[in-house]
Amino acid sequence: MKKIAVLTSGGDSPGMNAAIRAVVRKAIYHDIEVYGVYQGYLGLINDNIEKLELGSVGDMIQRGGTFLYSARCPEFKEKEVRAKAIENLEKRGIEGLVVIGGDGSYRGAQRLSEEAKSLKTIGVPGTIDNDINGTDFTIGFDTALNTIIDSVDKIRDTASSHERTFIIEVMGRDAGDLALWSGLAAGAETILIPEVKSDIEEIAEKIQQGMERGKKHSIIVCAEGVMTGNQCGEELKKFINIDTRVSCLGHIQRGGTPTGMDRVLASRLGGYAVELLIEGESAKAVGIQKNILTRTNFDEIFQSEHSIDNKMYELANQLSI
Ligand code: ATP
Repeated sequence: MKKIAVLTSGGDSPGMNAAIRAVVRKAIYHDIEVYGVYQGYLGLINDNIEKLELGSVGDMIQRGGTFLYSARCPEFKEKEVRAKAIENLEKRGIEGLVVIGGDGSYRGAQRLSEEAKSLKTIGVPGTIDNDINGTDFTIGFDTALNTIIDSVDKIRDTASSHERTFIIEVMGRDAGDLALWSGLAAGAETILIPEVKSDIEEIAEKIQQGMERGKKHSIIVCAEGVMTGNQCGEELKKFINIDTRVSCLGHIQRGGTPTGMDRVLASRLGGYAVELLIEGESAKAVGIQKNILTRTNFDEIFQSEHSIDNKMYELANQLSI
């Protein structure tokens, strides 16, 4: 392997820059030329590709977002469009592509490895949602988790001063990991996640009982995959007469300086992706399972449903009585 390329795709996440840096430095260490593709698959079809040097990724490890930019590119689902991308890679002699993104981005990478004559692709899990199979953690999850915890801690101060119930809507798309982990870490009374069906009447009763016991406030963490925070407030009002406030954390969850955990994870996964390309692997994603670096076929990743840790959900309920 003499030349590889790297791109970031889908929603950005803190730590993507650290992952790009690891790919670039690891490749150059092994005398492999590296090309950066700007704007994800869009840049691949528009030939927005530039050679990266050691210095290109200097002063990057601590930065949120992605300096290669990310984009949604729905037209990449069409074979003729992907043919253009393959042509742009082949004309430079690029034999390997590292795709940092979510499972939508992995699907694009899988198609490329099937359709190009000799292109090898490796996926690196970059998303705050932690919703990708084949890895215990995705790059950006820990930073987003800490951003949410910090916000909930602040909201808790005002919630207790005014004896209010706060509903905090958090990201995660169809996955409840961010809500579950942040809810447990911030001591939320109630956690609503898409993986577990919740009974709003029961939640209202729990809040009522808490108030009767003298609880000064109540924090509900609601995953966006269940409903919006406002909808949650409306639902609760059907069963209980309380003063609720809704806080939708929004895109602050996607930004910020990556935590130490995310920087280390990004560095390990980015470096490992290059190792796999050197070994001749393709159509696989790197991951971390029980603190060991792993590789999983894209097919396997797409086949299974994402699941949460049920024991952890039970524990969060038990601790919030
Ligand atoms: P996140 O979940 O963090 O948003 P993601 O990678 O899942 O990340 P998507 O928007 O689903 O985000 O996918 C990113 C890009 O991958 C799409 O804009 C598209 O260019 C490409 N892609 C997605 N699905 C496919 C597919 N089935 N075939 C080819 N390309 C695809």
